Amino acid sequence: MIYPVTVYGEPILRKKAKPVDKNFEGFEEFMKNMWETMYYADGVGLAAPQVGKSLRVFVIDASMGAEEEPELKDFKKAFINPEIIEISGEKWLMNEGCLSLPEIREDVSRPEFVTIRYHDENFEEHTETFKGYASRIIQHEFDHLEGVLFIDYLNPLKKRLLKGKLLNITKGNVETHYRIISPSR
Ligand code: ZN
Repeated sequence: MIYPVTVYGEPILRKKAKPVDKNFEGFEEFMKNMWETMYYADGVGLAAPQVGKSLRVFVIDASMGAEEEPELKDFKKAFINPEIIEISGEKWLMNEGCLSLPEIREDVSRPEFVTIRYHDENFEEHTETFKGYASRIIQHEFDHLEGVLFIDYLNPLKKRLLKGKLLNITKGNVETHYRIISPSR
């Protein structure tokens, strides 16, 4: 099942998400739907609050970055109850977008490395350090679990320039090929 995507203005995107219980009923089905929704919407990552569930889960398929970083070839992972251990390295800029902020793309500065402890879809624990593109997406998706959006990192001038676009998103006045849930819809 493909979920509609919650967009800017929906309160759930600003909430701190809750940990997932191992015995959560319908968990497998939920994860299946997360993947399906992400691929349908052409996202490289998707966090549960973006489909209206305030849970600490996100999925990432970064394999399209393999052209520049060959080790991303099979990078397809689910992160359940993740905890950031460390974010380090030099900050670098990359153009980011978000399914919850349609039609907005901006350069965002983030540190190069992230060390994260998480459970996979079988609830097995891992602690890994990621760099480059993978680290970038992980930091972006993790932020969703904390109620943070990439536009929060922009300087006040850039934010002001986006005001009109953001207002349109809250009104549902955006073109997306996926269904959205906005405060007015
Ligand atoms: Zn996002």
